[in-house]
Amino acid sequence: MTAGLPTVGHWRNGGPWPGGADRYGDVHDPATGRVAAQVAFASGEEVSAVLADAVEAGREWAATSLARRTAVLFGFREALVRRRKDIAAVITSEHGKVLDDALGEVQRGLEVAEFACGAPHLLKGSFSDGVSGGVDVYSMRQPLGVVAVISPFNFPAMVPLWFVPIAVACGNAVVLKPSEKDPSASLLIGECWAEAGLPAGVFNVVQGDRVAVDALLEHPAVSAVSFVGSTPVARHVYESGTRHGKRVQALGGAKNHMVVLPDADLESAADAAVSAGFGSAGERCMAISVVVAVDPVADSLVPSIAARIEGLRTGDGRRACDMGPLVTGAHRDKVRAYVDVGVAEGADLVTDGRSVVPDGEDDGFWLGPTLFDRVRPGMSIYDEEIFGPVLSVVRVASYDDALALVNANPYGNGTAIFTGDGGAARRFQREVEVGMVGVNVPIPVPMAYYSFGGWKSSLFGDTHAHGVEGIHFFTRGKVVTARWPDPSTRHGVDLGFPQHD
Ligand code: NAD
Repeated sequence: MTAGLPTVGHWRNGGPWPGGADRYGDVHDPATGRVAAQVAFASGEEVSAVLADAVEAGREWAATSLARRTAVLFGFREALVRRRKDIAAVITSEHGKVLDDALGEVQRGLEVAEFACGAPHLLKGSFSDGVSGGVDVYSMRQPLGVVAVISPFNFPAMVPLWFVPIAVACGNAVVLKPSEKDPSASLLIGECWAEAGLPAGVFNVVQGDRVAVDALLEHPAVSAVSFVGSTPVARHVYESGTRHGKRVQALGGAKNHMVVLPDADLESAADAAVSAGFGSAGERCMAISVVVAVDPVADSLVPSIAARIEGLRTGDGRRACDMGPLVTGAHRDKVRAYVDVGVAEGADLVTDGRSVVPDGEDDGFWLGPTLFDRVRPGMSIYDEEIFGPVLSVVRVASYDDALALVNANPYGNGTAIFTGDGGAARRFQREVEVGMVGVNVPIPVPMAYYSFGGWKSSLFGDTHAHGVEGIHFFTRGKVVTARWPDPSTRHGVDLGFPQHD
């Protein structure tokens, strides 16, 4: 630990808990480049201690009436509304995204909390009266116990909120392991739960790195794991979690394509490509990183995109800029290196973000919006997830070539088609092998009452996040077949398999 720096700790038993860490990570202010705080890294023993509390608290919470649980959810929603600006400010100071974008992230998380307020309806079972002589059948959904949520750096509030309110509404206790790069929003979420009256121990945060993650994956007290992050870690979490007998949904990386057909409204398409490519400095799993320009669109689309990029202001997210810094110096260097490689591999560099003049301090983690044209599969800027402000244009001859390109990609998170032709859009939405599809909408993130998730290497497991799939993920179904004694329906001894009459 570095003397004089604030430390970010855990959330345990309904309040902050410093723990006894002997390992810490640096938390930067990306717009200044300075280390702003240090975050405690939980040991395996600390994770076990938090889980023991969660098991205890979860038992009581599962037995708490649905009416009471729902009242707490409404209180949580109110607390989030009250604290949204505080949460957004913390996100901007640790992640770097501009304030407006951080507020938008909190809003999308808030919508999941609102969805979870409908738990009494969503948890209703079904009832069949008189399925056989004197026999009724009904179903119910019950909580799992303790569930773990492991989140990435790029949405430090929204991604935890995709899962936590639904898990809690369903009667589970939760242990959240946030990204070590921007850990503080999780503690404000803890404060919101405390203000809402959630009993201590039902919501917990353990800060840390892979040691904490592996402890959660291996601990028998954890029944289910919701993970969001890069594909290699998602695969590890899925394999290790399922090997340890847990239910796992592990959302991974992405390479999202936006197909532009010749009949598209090119002004809207250019606006959309710039907004979806460079919002949050491209550090969004639903960011557009490839524009697939169907001939002859590219000749006019590329200059339109480039002109819009000229108007973007990169700088400190607290200064009303359009695009902030990248999350860490190491990540900025990695993304910058992709620009060097793109040039070396022969793509046309139309706008070079390496020479950006930011509205911010010199040591911030800056890289301006970058546009490449004539990118091809086989180049690393096409083949790999960059997760930064680098947009590639791939030129293709036809709709069929565009579709084949998208479907050949190993990722399948999001995609969009821009066209004025309803028939082409309808064909695309049926034929494309991607989990979330936009028609003239570049970032088709489903509303909270639908479910979020990709296909192929963008999701391991088969349950998407939030919506009805979220309710199913955090509960187990049970079916009861009941007969109450009635002498008139007595059957006597019968060793045959039950047949209904
Ligand atoms: P990451 O995979 O590095 O980290 C995610 C989480 O896993 C963090 O909490 C981290 O501490 C932990 N972790 C990291 N390495 C680990 C390891 N070896 N073993 C165990 N745990 C480990 O991801 P990131 O850089 O924080 O986030 C960016 C990635 O997340 C991108 O690939 C992006 O596409 C993806 N993402 C996907 C979605 C989606 O919905 N599919 C949403 C947001 C982000």
